[in-house]
Amino acid sequence: MSRRPLIAGNWKMNGLKADGLALAKGVAEKLKADKLACEMLVCPPFLLVAAVAEAVAGSGLAVGGQDCHAKVSGAHTGDTSPVMLKDAGASYVILGHSERRTDHGETDAGVKAKAEAALAAGLSAIVCIGETLAQRDAGQTLDVNKSQLRGSWPEGGNAANTVIAYEPVWAIGTGRVATPEQAQEVHAAIRAELAAMIGAEEAAKVRILYGGSMKPDNAAQLLALADVDGGLIGGAALKADDFWAIAKAA
Ligand code: PEP
Repeated sequence: MSRRPLIAGNWKMNGLKADGLALAKGVAEKLKADKLACEMLVCPPFLLVAAVAEAVAGSGLAVGGQDCHAKVSGAHTGDTSPVMLKDAGASYVILGHSERRTDHGETDAGVKAKAEAALAAGLSAIVCIGETLAQRDAGQTLDVNKSQLRGSWPEGGNAANTVIAYEPVWAIGTGRVATPEQAQEVHAAIRAELAAMIGAEEAAKVRILYGGSMKPDNAAQLLALADVDGGLIGGAALKADDFWAIAKAA
């Protein structure tokens, strides 16, 4: 089964307008000059989504948000709706990142509702799951990931509109990366669980990204794994050259 890899950059809460535009344009210029087999995506902070989308239009570089509300509009101060993201030029949205689960108490049910709203707005959802170090040490890795997957997967989700990002919490921003064996074991288990949920044929088409300290020097071995279909990249996505080097490895 050939799945087009997705190399997605999560800028988190980094970058002012000038930095963000320079970074996005740097990636877009490379992409215009050298079409890659993989798909590339940048997810800037909300305030930069529209400007970045405008700056990279026509380059093939996709733009996404890092979260959205489950409602289209209304009395939700400080929130951003998926329809607004779409209107600003986004085509993807990251949901349920471990930092949001920790900082904002996001639950699987909440992530599922947001993902369903994202799909209804015409966005593709990147649903993040992953175990903590304590859960891994307790031998709960596969159970935790399967449970988060089942709880967060949107009704109506399929390979065309939903991507899973497996991000072991202990590897995010720590410089500690999963070994190829650890990553492949979890990715394969996620795909098997998806097969039970949506059928083997559709599950075989779903892209499952690895996230957690992916860098130019470890990307190739992770991206070569049978069930790894790209990366969700934080720190290394803030430098156009590093982000590009990872995409070239995909
Ligand atoms: C992330 O933010 O999703 C992430 C994986 O960060 P980093 O690459 O910095 O570990």
